[in-house]
Amino acid sequence: MDDTTQWGVCIACKWWQIEPGALLENATHGLCIDHDLQPYLLRVSARSGCNRYAQGEPARAVGSGACPPTAEPVR
Ligand code: SF4
Repeated sequence: MDDTTQWGVCIACKWWQIEPGALLENATHGLCIDHDLQPYLLRVSARSGCNRYAQGEPARAVGSGACPPTAEPVR
């Protein structure tokens, strides 16, 4: 299997969850809410990425950009 086939960046992934007022720019950080990664409270930047990428609009919730993130996953 080619692990790069599904690879994409967080800014274009539906599993990226950011603050309600956050701008879609490289410096923005948010919580990854991919179901299998939720236990890790993984906080990632817009230009981070992985092969669990799924194209879509980011979710938004207060606390998504905190260290550590305090928001519940909304998807
Ligand atoms: S770490 Fe992977 S699954 Fe999570 S938001 Fe980024 S691209 Fe999506």
